[in-house]
Amino acid sequence: MNKIGFIGLGVMGAPMAAHLLAAGYSLRVWNRTAAKAESLVGKGAARAATPAGAAADADAVITMVADDAALRQVSYGQVGLLTALPAGAVHISMSTVSAEVAAELAAAHRARGSEFLSAPVFGSRESAAVRRLWGIASGAPGAFRRCCPVLEAMVQGVTYVGEDPAAAAWIKILVNMLISSAIASMVQVFTTGQRLGVPPATVMEVIRSVFNSPVYERYGSRLVSRDFSLHFPLKLMLKDITLMLEMGGAAGVPLPHAAATREMVVAAVSQGFAEKDAAGGLMQAWERASSKDAS
Ligand code: NAP
Repeated sequence: MNKIGFIGLGVMGAPMAAHLLAAGYSLRVWNRTAAKAESLVGKGAARAATPAGAAADADAVITMVADDAALRQVSYGQVGLLTALPAGAVHISMSTVSAEVAAELAAAHRARGSEFLSAPVFGSRESAAVRRLWGIASGAPGAFRRCCPVLEAMVQGVTYVGEDPAAAAWIKILVNMLISSAIASMVQVFTTGQRLGVPPATVMEVIRSVFNSPVYERYGSRLVSRDFSLHFPLKLMLKDITLMLEMGGAAGVPLPHAAATREMVVAAVSQGFAEKDAAGGLMQAWERASSKDAS
């Protein structure tokens, strides 16, 4: 594989695409907001006029767009990638999306002779920048094997989780439930501790020794230092938790932790934090909700 199309140059997509360029792949990029492609074009990427333009002649086309609706928008229709991706080429979907859209796209590609690999990632803006994301992938084993070098140019490792294209989507959403619950719990712990007079940094020191986990470290440290810069917008956390609850409903499994976290997220969204960082937005909304003299 040498010619790669890349669609979706947001917080995550832009650094991931830059790694492909640095690894020597021939890259053609498309983003809905064209200005976000400029830095990559400056580094040698070609600019496509449409998603189909990014997929034409490609060995693989990668999508890293926001959600199900965005993925369908760039995939279908006259300028969608499906119309142009050559037979035998692979669509690698790296967004966090539903298992339904993954299964639907796998079938659409099969009908056209192209292939679909579901390959969402764990990590953050920082891990994307330093190639420390972790990927999970599901789809045809042959497509996975061919795409491995491309994936490994963007992530530190990939776990193959099976042939069913829905599998990676399910696992990504399940594990995201643990991450969002951890963030929501830490927000409540720090807010309560502070009101009781316990400094968040002291609480973090103890969290660090009890839970030796990059998730607690990454989000806890940012909350303690009040680094509320944008890493993952709250609106995308709302999207993920909604997917979790739909998945639980379909499986007939109650998910009370996800439901409680969704309540916190909805409250923060209604306070205007949808476009802000998820952890920072939740923290600020919770502090307001907890303040006796909230305005
Ligand atoms: P982001 O910065 O908001 O970027 C979203 C991308 O999707 C942008 O390129 C945006 O285009 C595009 N997009 C949105 N709606 C579209 C539409 N209707 N048609 C075409 N393009 C559309 O989000 P991100 O943080 O990069 O996240 C991307 C995906 O990775 C999401 O599924 C997210 O859940 C997942 N993820 C994120 C993180 C993280 O820490 N940020 C970690 C793991 C996984 P514009 O530039 O025009 O808005």
